[in-house]
Amino acid sequence: MRDNDKVAGVSVEDIRRARSALDGLVTRTPLIPSQSLSQRTGSEVSLKLETLQATGAFKLRGATNRLVNLSSAARRRGVACCSTGNHGRGLAYAARQLGVSATICMSKLVPTNKVAAIEALGATVVITGDSQDEAQLEVERLVEEKGVIDVSPFDDPHIIAGQGTIGLELLEDLPDADTVLVPLSGGGLISGIALALKAASAHIRVIGVSMERGAAMYESQRAGRPVAVTEEATLADCLGGGIGIENRHTFEMVRALVDDFVLLTEDEIAAGMRHALLGERLVVEGGGAVGMAAVLADKVQTLGQKVAIVVSGNNVDMQKLLRICAEEK
Ligand SMILES: *Cc1c(COP(=O)(O)O)cnc(C)c1O
Repeated sequence: MRDNDKVAGVSVEDIRRARSALDGLVTRTPLIPSQSLSQRTGSEVSLKLETLQATGAFKLRGATNRLVNLSSAARRRGVACCSTGNHGRGLAYAARQLGVSATICMSKLVPTNKVAAIEALGATVVITGDSQDEAQLEVERLVEEKGVIDVSPFDDPHIIAGQGTIGLELLEDLPDADTVLVPLSGGGLISGIALALKAASAHIRVIGVSMERGAAMYESQRAGRPVAVTEEATLADCLGGGIGIENRHTFEMVRALVDDFVLLTEDEIAAGMRHALLGERLVVEGGGAVGMAAVLADKVQTLGQKVAIVVSGNNVDMQKLLRICAEEK
């Protein structure tokens, strides 16, 4: 693959450009060895700590790259989304850093601590409706009436290229990596990383890890087209939601670039979170711990010799994490 070759509209050159654009705006995160997982598997296992980003998750990378690529007219009109989770936080933080106004729309059901967290990042919060779908309608109204830009959490070339900068960093820190485990929901994270890695070596295996409950990308790949799944409560809440029936980039990229999928039970995800805190001394949310969980559950078919696990986020309710850790299994 050459640097300008595009997969579903995204090239390695786009990721390199994102790398320079993000310099100084996001954290270049460390890759640290995991003694315990290495001992357990007999492979050399390392953890890529996206939990160290300012907002506690990698989404800042994509959001920042999306904003730096807006025209100055678009920047003046501002951006919006309806995520109350890591995407909303990342967008709010990136917008403040770049002097762009951000509006995050939320339903009335969103707990006040989440509202406060987004407000503390300097975004305008609009509370409307009784569901996320109704909050999304408010985003669409802002787009219509004010020309605000609706920033997608994953299905956008600049978002994918931003997340792909993780892949370039991995190649610098572990040039002979043979297996990379990546949490998978809408697929922006894994698409960018896989593109960066496969361009360097076709032999690196990239494996997507999701929860059994509502694995939208996995079900879509099986069906051969984007399908909707029923959303269920899961410890990996940041991996919930669909890939969009009109998906334009990540479905295609995952099909072309991802080698395998692992699905985890709730108990396995809990074990990953527990291992993170007690075994690695790391606070990790359910969706961020699925790579470690997949290794612990022995669910990776051919784990290579040099393994990198993307640890994607730390936004977990601490009381809940401590409860999970207390349930010794
Ligand atoms: C959004 C998110 C993911 C999944 O990323 P996609 O690009 O939607 O696949 C994984 N982990 C965390 C912590 C996230 O916030």
